[in-house]
Amino acid sequence: MIPLSAFNHFMYCPRRCYLIHVEGEFTDNVHTLLGTFEHERVDQIGHKVNTDVHVEYALPVWNRRLGLSGKCDAVEFHSEGVIYPVEHKHGERRRWINDDFQLAAQAMCLEEMLGRPVEKGAIYHYQSRRRRELIIDLSLRNIIEDTAVQIRQLLKEKLRPQPIKDKRRCSGCSLHEICQPEMIHSSHKLLQMNQCLFDDSEEVYL
Ligand code: SF4
Repeated sequence: MIPLSAFNHFMYCPRRCYLIHVEGEFTDNVHTLLGTFEHERVDQIGHKVNTDVHVEYALPVWNRRLGLSGKCDAVEFHSEGVIYPVEHKHGERRRWINDDFQLAAQAMCLEEMLGRPVEKGAIYHYQSRRRRELIIDLSLRNIIEDTAVQIRQLLKEKLRPQPIKDKRRCSGCSLHEICQPEMIHSSHKLLQMNQCLFDDSEEVYL
């Protein structure tokens, strides 16, 4: 089974997904520590019942067809029948595409388990205490299907992907020290330069 968190890691960076889920690497940085701290409430299995909404926290979910498993931070069951997952994230309200994929994968798990449609969900941002609603449309579902295949291939083949070239993501990544993206990029550059020199010298002597 692919852990649902792997969707978030893979969409952030395939190499990060590989380092965590294949090599078992993990270190915290300020972002992950704040996330863990803020997550404490929803990490405890439990429920809350209001007049119109029943909320389950840390609900285990899975999808057998796609081979996914994990848990939802919170799932709201509304009296009119709507099922609404809410993923809790550290930080200000802003769109991170990797969060959207994690939520969509959760929705697809709930649909298979409960046999009912899950058309929307939300990301709750702790710092701004605001929700961002997400519609789980067909294009998002198709991406989840394709990504599940890619992640399974990554976990099976065990080939470490190259670092991405994105300073913003790399500087926010807790695995930066382990990954060393800048060093790998510059060593590739050196190798390429050496290759060019070697090619040129061959031309001279031919
Ligand atoms: S440092 Fe950058 S390349 Fe390395 S795992 Fe993190 S995001 Fe990916």
